[in-house]
Amino acid sequence: MVIITMSSEKPAFIMCVCTGKCPGFEKMDIWDFINTIRMVLPVKHGIIHPQLCEEDGDRYLEDVLRQGQKVFIGGCAPAMQYKLFRDAFEKRGLNVKTDLVPIDVRDMTTDEAIEKVTGELKKNGYDIQ
Ligand code: SF4
Repeated sequence: MVIITMSSEKPAFIMCVCTGKCPGFEKMDIWDFINTIRMVLPVKHGIIHPQLCEEDGDRYLEDVLRQGQKVFIGGCAPAMQYKLFRDAFEKRGLNVKTDLVPIDVRDMTTDEAIEKVTGELKKNGYDIQ
């Protein structure tokens, strides 16, 4: 059983699946992954986006980002994510280095990816017991 003990606002979670054709996500069942994240872990909501680093991805981020809510993004390497999403975060008055938690979940099984996200949530103060 999971008990959430943190009182501040829960973060948003976005899984970016790199068009859905990227071999980096072949080992993972993305639906089992996102359903576990959104139903079991302390996130406000979780969604799958096909390609956040395309123009419509930027527009999507600009629509949904807001101050006071951290965003965890599962996808490619953190260094890439910081670079790719910096402008969208800046446009919404957010700092990509502090408001984004980028998580590299490539080449992982579903369980490995869930474990990694769980660890990042804990590291950022969202308690899971
Ligand atoms: S943000 Fe990263 S994971 Fe998402 S589509 Fe672009 S390169 Fe792929």
